Amino acid sequence: MKTYLGIDIGGTNVVYGVVDDEFGFKYQSTLKTKSVNSAEELALHIFSDLKENYKGKLDGIGIGAPSVNCLTQQIEFAPNLNKWGDIIPLKTIFEGQFKNEVTLINDANAAAVGEKHFGDAREHQNFAVITLGTGVGMGLFVHGKLYTGDHGMAGELGHIVMRSDGRDCKCGNSGCLETYIGKKGIIKTTKEKLEFNSGGSLLHEVSPSLITPLEVFKAAKKNDPVALEVVDLVAKDLGYAIALVVNLFDVENVYLAGGVAKSGNILRKRTEKYMRQFTLPNIREKVKLKISEINDKHGAVLGAAAAIKEFQDKKSN
Ligand SMILES: [Zn+2]
Repeated sequence: MKTYLGIDIGGTNVVYGVVDDEFGFKYQSTLKTKSVNSAEELALHIFSDLKENYKGKLDGIGIGAPSVNCLTQQIEFAPNLNKWGDIIPLKTIFEGQFKNEVTLINDANAAAVGEKHFGDAREHQNFAVITLGTGVGMGLFVHGKLYTGDHGMAGELGHIVMRSDGRDCKCGNSGCLETYIGKKGIIKTTKEKLEFNSGGSLLHEVSPSLITPLEVFKAAKKNDPVALEVVDLVAKDLGYAIALVVNLFDVENVYLAGGVAKSGNILRKRTEKYMRQFTLPNIREKVKLKISEINDKHGAVLGAAAAIKEFQDKKSN
């Protein structure tokens, strides 16, 4: 039986696990992304942890991370990992540390590969997975294959410009989707709305530094007016962006994954309403917006491990 190491590098957490051929977990762990200062330090940390706590062999390593160029196998200008440098040759770094072959894949693509291998999308040829967290990304399957683009950069949904005079984005542009519906964007919108609210919000009871998207969704479920307004703004931007994807690629199934997707139906239902509003009438009623059923942490790790196979199959074709 073969065993693979799957690693999901997010802006907040790094989650990793050793999985077998059937993708059952043999070991898993997590650490805060900020707790390591470089990719080399991360590779050493995971290597030492496995040496101590797993001890078995590895047949390959799959890594999902933001802003991955899957052609060069590097992280390139990841706004949420800029502390580690502009160009991070992750494949080289991990292969140097582990002496195993490494496959690097965009985190949203990893989520899509996970959905295709283990999730609801097993039978689907065309579908999109949208990841909602610190960053906003997308993995797209077209005709049964992961679409990666000419430069390995396909799916950067978080950096479509919604408002050309909008908020500054770490990518250098202004008004990107991520600046409104990424974790920090949602928090910023909430604080702006609270400033103009005279006190009738549950969120006034939360210390400003402790406001998170999950707090906002919790308050919205209790019909808090400010929280509901924020959720509606997020849903409108997200629904608009998804409608672009649906109109362009005619995907019938769209999945939401990642930390912010955990908020559940309150965001999904409103987003679906706007998505349908902005979608062409002849496909409007056919398109479905679902929350990924794979637990998002496991899903990303499994997807990263499954990427090893996905790309091996591509090479052998
Ligand atoms: Zn941007």
